[in-house]
Amino acid sequence: MTDKSTQTNHGNLDAGGSKKHIKAGEAIMVQGERGDSAYIIESGKVEITLQAPDNTEKIVGTRGPGAMIGEMAIIDNAPRTATVRALEDCILLEITADDFSNRLDHSDPILKMTIQVILTRYRDTLIRANIAGENRNRPPPEVAELTHAKHSNAVESVKISNEFKAALDNGEVSLHYQPIVNLKTGEISGFESLMRWEHPERGFISPSIFIPIAEESGAILKASQWALKESCAALQRLEQRTGYNSDLFMSVNFTSRDFAAEGFVDSVYETLSRSDVKPSQLHIEITERMLIDQPESARDTLQMCRKAGIDISIDDFGTGYSSLSYLQYFPISTLKIDRSFIKDMHENEGSMALVKSIIALGKNMNMKIIAEGVEKLEEAQILRDLDCDMAQGYYFAKPMSEIQITGFIKDTSKIEF
Ligand code: C2E
Ligand code: CA
Ligand code: CA
Repeated sequence: MTDKSTQTNHGNLDAGGSKKHIKAGEAIMVQGERGDSAYIIESGKVEITLQAPDNTEKIVGTRGPGAMIGEMAIIDNAPRTATVRALEDCILLEITADDFSNRLDHSDPILKMTIQVILTRYRDTLIRANIAGENRNRPPPEVAELTHAKHSNAVESVKISNEFKAALDNGEVSLHYQPIVNLKTGEISGFESLMRWEHPERGFISPSIFIPIAEESGAILKASQWALKESCAALQRLEQRTGYNSDLFMSVNFTSRDFAAEGFVDSVYETLSRSDVKPSQLHIEITERMLIDQPESARDTLQMCRKAGIDISIDDFGTGYSSLSYLQYFPISTLKIDRSFIKDMHENEGSMALVKSIIALGKNMNMKIIAEGVEKLEEAQILRDLDCDMAQGYYFAKPMSEIQITGFIKDTSKIEF
C-alpha cells in the first residue's frame, strides 16, 4: 500500500486497485448475488434499485464520482442488498476483499485496530438483527440474506433520517413543479409541487424513500410547512414573472402525520394570509389512507379547509380502498386517478373500465378529475374523450425547477395534442 491510498481525493485512490469500464445500462451488481468487490466511482453515474418481494423495483438513489458502492462485500462477502446499474459510461476502481484485507494487514496498527473494531461491531449488529435465539449461531442463508437486506435498510433509514433534518437547513432540499393541464383547452391549470433532495455525496434521493422515513421520525412536519410556504411563494413569483392572468393553482402533498398534527389548519391559514395566494389556489393532496385511519378528525380538518376555500385532492385514487361510501362523508373537491390505471388503460379493459367509472363517479359528485402519469399522446386523447378534466404526466412535462418552469410557461401558452 502506498500513501496515496489513504487520501480522500477519489482521483488519487487508484494505488493497487484495478479499473473497470462499464457501459451505460450495464448492471454492476445484482441484488441477492454474492460478490467480493466494492467499487469507487471514478467517473459516471449509477442508479441503485431495490427489488421488493412482489418483484417491483424501486429506485433508491443515484451515486456519482467519489462514492463507494457494494462495500459490504469486502467486509463479509454478504449477498448484494441492491442492484446497481450504470446510468452513464462509468470508470470504476475495484477493491476486492483480498485487496482490502491485504491493505489492512499492512496499515498503521492503530488504524488497523480501529477499523477492525468498527467492522466487528457493524457485522455483529447485522447478524443479531431479527434473528431468533436458536438461530443465533448460524442462520440459514435465506434468513441471513433477508436479515442483512432488512438491517442494512434499517441502518440506511437511520442515516437518511438524521441527514434529512440537516439537509432541510442546508438547502439541499428543493421543490420541483409539474404542470397540470386542462384537457379541454391544453392550457396549464396549475402545478403539483414535489420535493427533491440532492445529497452532496449520494446524489439524488427519491422522495418515495425519504418522505416515509421523515414521516416516521417526525421531520416531515417541518418539511411540509416549509414546502407549503415555498410553494405559495413560488406560485406568486411565477404569476408575476410570466404575467399569467388567470388563477393558477398549486397542489401540495401532505402526510397523515402533518394532517394529524395539532394546529395544522391554523398553520395553513397563516401561511396563506402571509402570501397573496388565494385559498382557492391552494390544493391539499392527501391519500385515501389518511381518511380511513382517522375519519372523524380528518373530516373536521377537511371541513375547515374547505370552508376557507382550499381545494382537497385525493391522491393515487383507486389504489387504496374499495369502499366508496367515504367519498360522500368527506368534503373532497378533486380525485387524482392513480398512474397505474392510466398506464394500463389501452391494453387492459379492467383499467379502462375503472378510469371511466372514476370519471363518471367524480362528475356525479361534482368533483374535478385529474389523471396522473400520462406518458403518451394516445392516453391524453382517450382521457379527453372520456371527459376527464385535467392531466399530469411526462407527456406534457416532467417536474421542473422554478427557473425551468418559468421559462416553460412563458414559451408554452397551450399544449396541443
Ligand atoms: P405522488 O404524489 O403520486 O407524485 C407523483 C409522482 O409521479 C412524482 O414522483 C412524479 O415525478 C411522478 N410522475 C409524474 N408524471 C409521471 C409520468 O408520466 N410517469 C411516471 N412514471 N411518473 C410520473 P416523485 O416526485 O418521485 O414523488 C414520489 C412520491 O413522493 C409522490 O408521489 C409523493 O407521494 C411523495 N412526495 C413527493 N414530494 C412530496 C412532498 O413535498 N411532500 C410529501 N408529503 N410527499 C411528497
Ligand atoms: Ca401527489
Ligand atoms: Ca399520485
